[in-house]
Amino acid sequence: RSAELLARQRHWESNARTYPRRLPIAPAEGHGPWLRDVDGNVFIDFLAGAGVLSLGHGHPELVAAVTRQAARLTHGLDFPTPVKDAFVEAQLSMLPAALRERMKVHLCGPTGANAVDAAVKLCKTATGRGEVVAFQGAFHGSSHAAMALTGLVAQKQPVANGMPGVHFFPYSYCGRCPLALSPDDCETNCAAFLERSLHDGNGGVPLPAAVVLELVQGEGGVIPARLEFVTRVRELTRELDIPLIVDEVQTGCGRTGSWFAFEQYGIEPDVIVASKALSGIGAPVALIIYDRRLDVWAPGAHTGTFRGNQLAFAAGVETVRIIREQGVLANVRARGAQIRQRLGELDDCRWVREVRGLGLMWGVELADPRDGRPAPELARAVQDHALRHGLITELGGRADSVVRVLPPLNVTEEVVDTACSILVAAVRKCAA
Ligand code: PMP
Repeated sequence: RSAELLARQRHWESNARTYPRRLPIAPAEGHGPWLRDVDGNVFIDFLAGAGVLSLGHGHPELVAAVTRQAARLTHGLDFPTPVKDAFVEAQLSMLPAALRERMKVHLCGPTGANAVDAAVKLCKTATGRGEVVAFQGAFHGSSHAAMALTGLVAQKQPVANGMPGVHFFPYSYCGRCPLALSPDDCETNCAAFLERSLHDGNGGVPLPAAVVLELVQGEGGVIPARLEFVTRVRELTRELDIPLIVDEVQTGCGRTGSWFAFEQYGIEPDVIVASKALSGIGAPVALIIYDRRLDVWAPGAHTGTFRGNQLAFAAGVETVRIIREQGVLANVRARGAQIRQRLGELDDCRWVREVRGLGLMWGVELADPRDGRPAPELARAVQDHALRHGLITELGGRADSVVRVLPPLNVTEEVVDTACSILVAAVRKCAA
């Protein structure tokens, strides 16, 4: 049945499919971390809707909240409604106290890319500047502007996607330092390079409207930024009065073990972009949370039909409540430590270049031990092997050579243990 549905999809839908190319399954139903396909095969779903299903599939309390709301009101444009009010309040309540009073919220179109676009547009309006600084290896979405800010060349080149005024700088990842420095010889040169380029008026980078940063590059291969780098970027942007946008579409809503990843870096951004797991159930919703200083848009400056998904708001309120009441963030940290330890078993495997992650986003980067080149064929083989043994994973990073996992945030120790056993066995078998 899966094969039949995949064939029908290939016939009717655009060729630009992503997930089913590597994961040839047709899902029928999901419960918690489990996904059943139309043929009755059951998988542990460590893709979790690309990080969207923070409480797993079909969480009963979210389903009940959505069902209740569906009988009342489903679509509300940007009118104030009780459930929207509760949702915005719940989101603001998750911010560190110092930020809570300072920030405002703008509901954007339904996807992460829409919210990235909105963030950049807002900063351009507020500063009157046109340039934007982004980072190599970043992913910000597939809309024209969000993709133009994406620093993954392989994704952009075939669609000739660029936007004038976007400047890419090296991201802080010592494993691929553009100057080939070892961390011991480096004084956060990536930040110093950015600093000098922005200070030097003749350096080719006019003062930008914004710096856009992922604190853990997700699609780029699960690369947490270095603390010193983030600290210096924040200092620099403050000094030059450049709004700092953190793209927390993937890292946000508890994924890294704090509600937002920026909390762990000890910084306060000017704009936070969030989407994916905001509703917790996959009902689309995206927003920016921004400093009141940037509240410059005139009425109607940034509209959109789908900014009032009441079902997403209802589920989002429940998601925040459950995450709070059930100590889900502590679970993220504990299960993250467990994954780090279990995947650490692969340290002796020559094809494993690095195991990286934060909270419940993890990646195993595979590379040829002879020349250090990415090993995408091996990554595909590992993903296939894991799927055949009941674990859904995702690929990302350089040439798709990083096997990634994004488990639900309430995943149990037992499920993590089983999933890690499948993944470790897959790498060992395929790299042998
Ligand atoms: N930013 C980041 C960091 C992301 O990971 C993604 C999606 N993977 C996006 C933006 C784009 O979100 P969407 O696919 O909902 O447009």
